[in-house]
Amino acid sequence: MEKFDVIVIGGGLAGLATAAQLIEKNKKLRILVHEAREVGQGASGVPGAMVNPATGQRARIAWNAESCMHMLEERLKRVSAYTDEKLWTRNGVLRPAIDEALSENFRNALKRSRWPKGWVEWLQPDAVSGLVPRLKDQSGGLFIRKGMVVQTPEYLNACVRYLQEQGVQFQYGGPYQLERERNWTLTSFKKQATAPTVILTAGYKSRENKYWNELPLNSVKGQLAIYECQENVSDLPAISAYGYIAPISRNRLVVGSTYEHHFHDENPDDQGAGLLDQKLNELLPDLYTKCRRIGQWSGIRATTPDRIPLVGEHYSEKGLYIFAGLGSKGLLYSECIAAGLAEHLIRGEKLPKELSLFRFSKLRDLREQAAEE
Ligand SMILES: Cc1cc2nc3c(=O)[nH]c(=O)nc-3n(C[C@H](O)[C@H](O)[C@H](O)COP(=O)(O)OP(=O)(O)OC[C@H]3O[C@@H](n4cnc5c(N)ncnc54)[C@H](O)[C@@H]3O)c2cc1C
Repeated sequence: MEKFDVIVIGGGLAGLATAAQLIEKNKKLRILVHEAREVGQGASGVPGAMVNPATGQRARIAWNAESCMHMLEERLKRVSAYTDEKLWTRNGVLRPAIDEALSENFRNALKRSRWPKGWVEWLQPDAVSGLVPRLKDQSGGLFIRKGMVVQTPEYLNACVRYLQEQGVQFQYGGPYQLERERNWTLTSFKKQATAPTVILTAGYKSRENKYWNELPLNSVKGQLAIYECQENVSDLPAISAYGYIAPISRNRLVVGSTYEHHFHDENPDDQGAGLLDQKLNELLPDLYTKCRRIGQWSGIRATTPDRIPLVGEHYSEKGLYIFAGLGSKGLLYSECIAAGLAEHLIRGEKLPKELSLFRFSKLRDLREQAAEE
């Protein structure tokens, strides 16, 4: 049986960020990342993901946006040394005001949220056409200058190389069993590993873990499509309007995403492809005629009822932690929440209470029941 200080279950954005923050805060930690498939095979493998701190239809500033953006930028810079690929582009994110309600929301967003200087501005219609000349609707829009697009699969691979160099161990494949005596023991077909602390970062599959099947997590399938275009699209900002369009190379775009609350399987399908074609055609009809769909991708997001992630220790099992519910903001949130979790585990700092598991009544009840037993 191999001994570790921490076992992380799941090698997506949450798991890799957690391993990185832990090892950077204490180089001596022995960390194992147990991943069922391959890194980037879950929702985190999304090709061309947006980092957009203006959330929802009201374009409110995301939770802890300034610090989260800063930490993501630092991580991107650090792991860039571990790949030849370009990991991100910062052309900003345009949120066109394609209807009256959005227009009002976006104008108010500037007053309602306290945005850091230089992050966000309202663009008049002529400025929008200067930015995206082919955009069908030119009614103005909110421009999030800080927004960017990240090549997530390459980013995750670079993170793995970096973590391995720091001494973090990875094991891949198969189901596992988790039991506690004094410490936790994870048994998989590869090996038995033991650690006092286990962190579950298995995305929407976190609920399959027997200790966490009461988690308030919803699964939302998302499909996106990749298009090859006959012209250079690399200067476009990402466009976010009931979905998004983002350049991922000189002549490729990704268009996303569907939000499917009921689904039969995890794979992309023709209906999804049709919706994504329609989205591109509606927003950029001229460009649509010069692009052809060359691929499709799908993944399952885990979201919480209030759309804010959750992180914390189990209500009755000591040393067992969860970090999940990143919704559509995995890039922006993963690094800074992981940093908080690492501070908590290593230095005993409190976890942010907005992310507490016990903001949900079901988990509060379970905690009370466990305390009574
Ligand atoms: C279509 C779509 C578009 C998106 N667009 C964006 C975007 O533009 N910007 C953005 O920031 N985010 C985006 N996201 C969301 C983002 O990808 C998620 O927030 C993020 O991936 C969640 O990361 P995670 O590590 O919590 O979960 P996951 O990425 O799901 O990772 C969980 C990992 O755990 C592994 N696992 C599962 N079960 C087990 C097990 N039993 N044992 C071991 N390992 C296990 C999985 O294989 C997986 O690798 C998008 C998601 C989708 C689906």
